[in-house]
Amino acid sequence: MDYVYGPGKNHLFVPGPVNIPEPVIRAMNRNNEDYRSPAVPAMTKTLLEDVKKIFKTTTGTPFMIPTTGTGAWESALTNTLSPGDRIVSFLIGQFSLLWIDQQQRLKFNVDVVESEWGQGAKLDILAEKLAADHAHTIKAICIVHNETATGVTNNLATVRKLLDQYRHPALFLVDGVSSICALDFRMDEWGVDVALTGSQKALSLPTGIGIVCASPKALEASKSAKSVRVFFDWNDYLKFYKLGTFWPYTPSIQLLYGLRTALDLIFEEGLDNVIARHSRLGTATRLAVEAWGLKNCTQKEEWYSDTVTAVLVPPHIDSSEIVKRAWKRYNLSLGLGLNKVAGKVFRIGHLGNVNDLQLLGCLAGVEMILKDVGYPVKLGSGVAAACAYLQNNIPMIPSRI
Ligand code: PLP
Repeated sequence: MDYVYGPGKNHLFVPGPVNIPEPVIRAMNRNNEDYRSPAVPAMTKTLLEDVKKIFKTTTGTPFMIPTTGTGAWESALTNTLSPGDRIVSFLIGQFSLLWIDQQQRLKFNVDVVESEWGQGAKLDILAEKLAADHAHTIKAICIVHNETATGVTNNLATVRKLLDQYRHPALFLVDGVSSICALDFRMDEWGVDVALTGSQKALSLPTGIGIVCASPKALEASKSAKSVRVFFDWNDYLKFYKLGTFWPYTPSIQLLYGLRTALDLIFEEGLDNVIARHSRLGTATRLAVEAWGLKNCTQKEEWYSDTVTAVLVPPHIDSSEIVKRAWKRYNLSLGLGLNKVAGKVFRIGHLGNVNDLQLLGCLAGVEMILKDVGYPVKLGSGVAAACAYLQNNIPMIPSRI
């Protein structure tokens, strides 16, 4: 039973953790197993091959670490860099802020490029820094692909273009926690050196696996990187990969079976269809926001996120009230505004295993809540705008054609 019961299903529209599909829940409902038996390594082998597909890499080496996105960050940094190394890092919202805090606490020399929240990374400043860095003092570029706090997606292809243009050898480290497996992400094509995600986001699993994928260049860098690392040391994994037993320490058996099923479902839908579904849900949400007469926190279309929409509310309304009411009255879970945008935005997460009609339920709920808190919304306006678009754009379900 729910910890605090509400009738029907909770409409879970926070941008992670997200809804877990029923087949995945069932796949995880099992006993523990001996992870040194032949069965678990055999399944692990298929998982390591298949997670590469969601990163769109053939040359990368994945590590499935019992951790969260925060641990995956630490794994990416400590395996590739040494204390004192100069990193250019973009601060555009709460999650990039937290990653930068971790980078500073790990004693890297962090060159922070800050944007107003609601804007993307200032890549023109990156260009200036790369152009001026003849001595190659910049060892890594750290960027959050999709800033979950503000609903801003950065352009990674441009980062690669700039690195190539200035023939700069800096490592390219990407937080793909709320993007990989939902937004267009191309590790090999964009020359990303370390990409990472967490199981509770687009993979639609419980929290608990941080997936980190390293390019050959990142693996090479790990041989000379001097940061202290123990739990997150890629080398321990690589030793067990060679042995064919794969695990330096105990994995969650249930999560591995869950991941197997989650990947099977994603491939059955088709990764490109998954990405198209997210694009559709993002567009429908933005059309609803516009019809309500509200503003997207994301200031330009080029940064619009298809996994989360942060909605700005008028100054006389406290967005936390909207989130509170959503849960208390409508059994709807929306994301709070974080840090600088606390009270100013609420967030609709539209990522992972969610479909168009579920989204419409959420949008209907938001309309009623807006009315509850005194915002003059025309009931049905956002839902109508979303429906008009969706009705023309929802494809047949690939597995049912
Ligand atoms: N990076 C991004 C973009 C996130 O959205 C989050 C969490 O929401 C994190 C990192 C941190 O992940 P975790 O909470 O799994 O440690």
